[in-house]
Amino acid sequence: MRTMLADHPLVTHKLTLLRDATTDRATFRTLADELVTLLAYEATREIRMKEVSVTTPVGDAMGAKLAVPRPLIVPVLRAGIGMLDGMTRLLPMADVGFVGMVRDEESLQASTYADRLPADLTGREVFVLDPMLATGGTLVTVIGMLAKRGAAAVTAICLLAAPEGLARVEEAFPGAASPTVRVVTGAVDERLNDKGYIVPGLGDAGDRLFGQI
Ligand code: URA
Repeated sequence: MRTMLADHPLVTHKLTLLRDATTDRATFRTLADELVTLLAYEATREIRMKEVSVTTPVGDAMGAKLAVPRPLIVPVLRAGIGMLDGMTRLLPMADVGFVGMVRDEESLQASTYADRLPADLTGREVFVLDPMLATGGTLVTVIGMLAKRGAAAVTAICLLAAPEGLARVEEAFPGAASPTVRVVTGAVDERLNDKGYIVPGLGDAGDRLFGQI
């Protein structure tokens, strides 16, 4: 598992606004959307390409297009939905699957309540969207579901990560095991608190995006 810290000044600027407890919902949504687009730039750096030639008005040029099969984007419900538009803006040709995970607030165990993924992901590149990599339980479960279906590479895009979550994903998917696993994040925070929240973090990303349920 590889961690890529996308600490570009614009990412840090937008993350700082996102963390602010006084940031209103509309601004929070806009910032999350903009941040995922910036992180996606880093996350797609190794995306599979195919060389093609193209005829310009002046002559022939060699270029490259995204390889087939197209990538799959998987927002983890509910908070990952807040990152979907920003990602599909960059990859409008990608397929989109959905996984719904809910965390028990006592045990902090994540369980699956929705699974809308293609049955066969052989050779596919998958981008998982989940704003907060906290305990890592959700991400380990989702990557496991994708691995069972044959995904070749999984890149998780997380706005923030906790060291505990990164360590758990690393332990579950060490080294060069298949699928190759990468986490792209805007910042690695200090720690988790006893409720499994990232400190200093930004609070509950789902609540800040969509309201309390
Ligand atoms: N999920 C969140 O929304 N925030 C955290 O800090 C941890 C998990």
